[in-house]
Amino acid sequence: MQTHILGFPRIGKKRELKQALESFWNGDLSAQALTETSKELKKKHWHIQKSAGLDYVTTGDFSLYDQMLDTTLMLGVIPQRFQGCNKDSPLELYFSLARGHAGRNIAALEMTKWFDTNYHYLVPEIEANGSWMAGTHPVVEDTLLARKLGFLPKPALIGPFTWLTLAKAQKGEHKWSRLNSVANVYANLLSTLSNHCGCIQIDEPVLCTELLPEEARKQFQEVYASLNVACGVTKLMLATYFGPLAQNIKIAASSGCSLLHVDMVRGKGQLEAILSSLPKDMSLSLGVVDGRNIWKTDYSKAVPLIRRAVSALGRERVLLASSCSLLHCPVDVTEETALPEHIKSRMAFAVQKCYELTELCEIAERGNAIALAENVAMLQRTAAHPDICVSAVRKRASSVTPAMFKRHSTYQKRRTAQNWLHLPVLPTTTIGSFPQTETIRKTRLSYKRGEIQETDYIAAIRREIRDCIEKQEKLNLDVLVHGEAERNDMVEYFGQQLGGFCFTQNGWVQSYGSRCVKPPVIYGDVYRKAPMTVDWICYAQSLTQKPVKGMLTGPVTILCWSFVRDDIERSEVCKQIALAIRDEVQELEKAGVRIIQIDEAALREGMPLTAAEAEAYLQWAVEAFRLSSSGVEDATQIHTHMCYSEFNVILSSIAQMDADVISIESSRSGMELLDAFTDFHYPRAVGPGVYDIHSPRIPSVEEIAELLHKALRHIPKEQLWVNPDCGLKTRQWKEAYTALENMVTAAKKVRLTLGTTS
Ligand code: GLN
Ligand code: ZN
Repeated sequence: MQTHILGFPRIGKKRELKQALESFWNGDLSAQALTETSKELKKKHWHIQKSAGLDYVTTGDFSLYDQMLDTTLMLGVIPQRFQGCNKDSPLELYFSLARGHAGRNIAALEMTKWFDTNYHYLVPEIEANGSWMAGTHPVVEDTLLARKLGFLPKPALIGPFTWLTLAKAQKGEHKWSRLNSVANVYANLLSTLSNHCGCIQIDEPVLCTELLPEEARKQFQEVYASLNVACGVTKLMLATYFGPLAQNIKIAASSGCSLLHVDMVRGKGQLEAILSSLPKDMSLSLGVVDGRNIWKTDYSKAVPLIRRAVSALGRERVLLASSCSLLHCPVDVTEETALPEHIKSRMAFAVQKCYELTELCEIAERGNAIALAENVAMLQRTAAHPDICVSAVRKRASSVTPAMFKRHSTYQKRRTAQNWLHLPVLPTTTIGSFPQTETIRKTRLSYKRGEIQETDYIAAIRREIRDCIEKQEKLNLDVLVHGEAERNDMVEYFGQQLGGFCFTQNGWVQSYGSRCVKPPVIYGDVYRKAPMTVDWICYAQSLTQKPVKGMLTGPVTILCWSFVRDDIERSEVCKQIALAIRDEVQELEKAGVRIIQIDEAALREGMPLTAAEAEAYLQWAVEAFRLSSSGVEDATQIHTHMCYSEFNVILSSIAQMDADVISIESSRSGMELLDAFTDFHYPRAVGPGVYDIHSPRIPSVEEIAELLHKALRHIPKEQLWVNPDCGLKTRQWKEAYTALENMVTAAKKVRLTLGTTS
């Protein structure tokens, strides 16, 4: 059996690529030095794969910014606005596409999430009648380099169907009509590469989704036939991941490729269907090691799958692999020096995952009983640790009653009960955070480093809260917030206070370009140890007569933005978090905070890629939100906030969350989302964001008023709220203040046209 991974994280163990890129952009590092750093990283990563005993090292997985962008440049799909950049160095063009060009005032390509991961790719733009000039792909040079250094390279590419599906076509351009010319460029590249390697990996994760249109599905076989011809005797591996192949099994099986890679982590149940569809001349790469998580593989589950495949196909036709590229997990767990042993011993980052593959291969081929027994014993030992399985948490989660998912009364009754809040029509509010100034960041950092005392820290944050309340009073907003100055991040803040969470020192994962995130880790049962937000919010409420909205992060968002344990169901973990948040909600209510917002920023992005799985997810996700929010009196108002655009598909799920008020991002799409409200009569109150907080631009009164009028065509005035798109933490005070001033003025103006001022 051969072993391989679909890709290695490129950022580097110590985020070397991030540092090099940022120094290069600042002008402190030469292009040559940047290239040198990249080369060193690639070599290191190949060396790791080889030392672990993998049969191939993957090339083409390294990118200076983004692999989709590398593919876009290979195809020569450069929007008109970048034409001026061509004369400059190739790197300047490359980074202009990625980050825009401030000097020339050129906007970058749009960025969006890569399937259901937290990685962002640059969206190719296909302009009407645009002419394309095929260029090069770094994979060729990297493959030659790897070979020269004595490695056995397996180049990896993003496939043509995935690239085209993710590309955005301008009006008047039919992107699939470009398929043949795209395929020709791929054929050339494959034929060049085939001189230097025995196997090429071509990634088509789109096959694990329902995104491929019928006309593309029809052409799959033909296009792949031509790509296989271009490869000559070199084998082509069709790589699918992020879900089961489901209805695309036949398409994949008839692609004519020599190998098919399937994701056995996200597509657990698909083995039999795959085995029965696989043609005789096709080998199977089993993605049994999770490329998107930080945990060791449970060998007792993986080995039977491998054995089953071997017995059906023979071991020459089975390969072992990571489920997807390891891009989505941190680099090396041995860098972690502060984690308790019972947690660390369960973990495997990218380096360790390479070793797991060769170990699994040994177990399956030569029956290495010791390695198998060790793995099983370790998992059992740590699972029983009282820190991981907390009996009180289990007991509580299993005794949740149906009533706990429901508010006491219908929305109509609650609405009346909430009249005591005396809010005007079109109430104005914000999403929670206010600008995180240099002083705020410094205060938090000095406290974290132990440089200032707790009492001084509390006093400093209280000063910020007071200042924030004063500004909001002056702005005349209707529902105030405390400003979130104490929070570094909306998930980390809660993770740090909840049981069952831990934090790595170096568990960085690339989010986009040089940007990395270090997600919290949920390793054990989650529970609330003490109130987490009550003091800050009550302090804010003590400063004003107006209602202050208490701000919490919801269970689904906490789950989606963490690395989650894989020994119990995600829905179960989510339920535990929901119970912890429920306690906080009730405690806030008891303390007199009567408007509480539970943010579910990540609800949409956590949705699995296939309809069946998405349905199950939405069901438990909505239940978790309701569990967290339903323990309050009718007179207490529950808000939620979501930030993404394509939410139309889940509108009915959002309605089922039963929040009294939702705020949604919408201004970037010119309030396009409002159209959804024409067909779907949202039964409660909505605040469609009236201006884009991602941009420093200050919206005018007229512009906001116009958006509100537009919103009023879809949403009854009794149900409309006025708020920005999202939190203001990344903005400067002077921008935020003026923008909110305009927003409040616009609301007042529109109220007048409705014949009311209150
Ligand atoms: N309450 C958070 C804030 O205002 C919400 C952030 C988000 O939706 N991403 O920052
Ligand atoms: Zn948001």
